[in-house]
Amino acid sequence: MTYVCIKCRVNWVCGESSEEISGGLCEECIGEYIREKQRSKGHHDCFMRNTEICTEDCCSYWDNCNSRFLKGEK
Ligand SMILES: [Zn+2]
Repeated sequence: MTYVCIKCRVNWVCGESSEEISGGLCEECIGEYIREKQRSKGHHDCFMRNTEICTEDCCSYWDNCNSRFLKGEK
């Protein structure tokens, strides 16, 4: 499936490539969107920017944001 970001129009392919096109938000725009939310809640806008496990575990995006650090730990 080919995706087109509805915000910045960037294209990317996910899974099998095909003629089908779907709209969505690219990782970059999702990150910006979520960082905006983090700022509005008074958290650090560190989504997908942190380089180690975040200490703000009250943040509602914590799981999403830190899953990439937790993967290798099982
Ligand atoms: Zn985008």
